[in-house]
Amino acid sequence: MGRNTSYDVIVLGLGGMGSAAAAHLAARGQRVLGLERFGPAHDQGSSHGGSRITRQAYFEDPAYVPLLLRAYELWDQLCADSGTDVLVRTGGVFLGRPDSRTVAGSLRAAREWGLAHELLDAAEVRRRFPTLTPADDEVGLVETAAGFARPEATVAAHLDLAFSRGAGLRFREPALSWTATPGGGVRVRTGAGEYEAGALVVSPGSWAPQVLADLGVPLTVERQVMYWFQPTGGTGAWTPDRHPIYIHEAADGTQIYGFPAIDGPDGGAKVAFFRRGIACTPETVDREVHPEEVAAMAGQLAGVLPTLPGRLLKAATCMYTTTPDEHFVIAPHPEHPQVTVACGFSGHGFKFVPVVGEILADLATTGTTKHPIDLFDPRRPALEATP
Ligand SMILES: Cc1cc2nc3c(=O)[nH]c(=O)nc-3n(C[C@H](O)[C@H](O)[C@H](O)COP(=O)(O)OP(=O)(O)OC[C@H]3O[C@@H](n4cnc5c(N)ncnc54)[C@H](O)[C@@H]3O)c2cc1C
Repeated sequence: MGRNTSYDVIVLGLGGMGSAAAAHLAARGQRVLGLERFGPAHDQGSSHGGSRITRQAYFEDPAYVPLLLRAYELWDQLCADSGTDVLVRTGGVFLGRPDSRTVAGSLRAAREWGLAHELLDAAEVRRRFPTLTPADDEVGLVETAAGFARPEATVAAHLDLAFSRGAGLRFREPALSWTATPGGGVRVRTGAGEYEAGALVVSPGSWAPQVLADLGVPLTVERQVMYWFQPTGGTGAWTPDRHPIYIHEAADGTQIYGFPAIDGPDGGAKVAFFRRGIACTPETVDREVHPEEVAAMAGQLAGVLPTLPGRLLKAATCMYTTTPDEHFVIAPHPEHPQVTVACGFSGHGFKFVPVVGEILADLATTGTTKHPIDLFDPRRPALEATP
């Protein structure tokens, strides 16, 4: 295949963010080409493992809340457009000491933005949610709007929508290089040929340190582990209509988060550490989960979710791509305005997928967006490489 100049926008990387960008761009009538290293909705990057927590009372920073409010509208739209339950509201319980980041930060965001919530003492948490046994000095913030998204189904839904709106999607065709052309467009080379377009969206997940090396943003790729346990006594108390998603922050700051049993009576319930990662690269990541890791998780659960670690059903790895301040990078490329970059989602990006798709479509087509993205500037001081 030779040159092809008939595209408005090329999307490099069709994972969580890129598939959403492709769907939004195609919906606006843009001629889109999507390029993906692996197959559709694969398990080699950051958007797999069946479930992702969604919440609005955002302890990381209340500045994310307006994006989440818009994301929820778009999640509902995606459910309607795709006819699937890619987002499920179960409610959420955020547990820890009152001054923990998880509780105090979530409460601050909930109050600032008037989000529906309740603050429960430990005894009330134990009464309302019998699987959760916080210590007496801990509390639980209940957030009504919290729930989970299904990552593979979300990526598949966005790809389907992009395709049905005319996007060209090329799988198992990694981009080998991209360049901004002097005429203000872009050229992307793959093993199969070269493609030209007016604009480029680069959303390469854990491949960003290579694909976006010229940005100079210090990114750390981290191996993370997800565990599925069959709870003692079965999953009866764990069905999504009865069991919330939860986050627990221990006194030493260690956070775990988990889900109801979303895969039926034999699928177990998933739990993971938040940010206990090991630095890796996509090429060197150890995909095996080791017995001592399972033991560490079971030990962490003993106090607060004692019935969960009945029997380990499976475990899997996934990668975070983390910035020093754990805020995202979403912006026009500082040197090439026709290139839009999206990376560094720092282990908390999935709940934003539909709104990031909208923002990337805004930036790729108009160079600007009405959404607040100043926090995600690649030139912010927190990202200045340390000498
Ligand atoms: C274990 C785990 C738990 C998480 N839990 C949550 C959670 O509960 N809530 C939440 O909000 N977030 C969560 N996250 C984070 C969230 O899943 C990520 O922020 C999000 O999936 C990142 O999407 P992405 O599009 O940047 O990366 P990806 O989905 O990995 O997409 C990047 C894509 O680019 C492709 N690519 C790379 N290089 C090239 C190339 N040269 N050519 C073509 N294609 C290329 C890759 O193959 C990949 O498909 C979690 C992440 C993990 C790993």
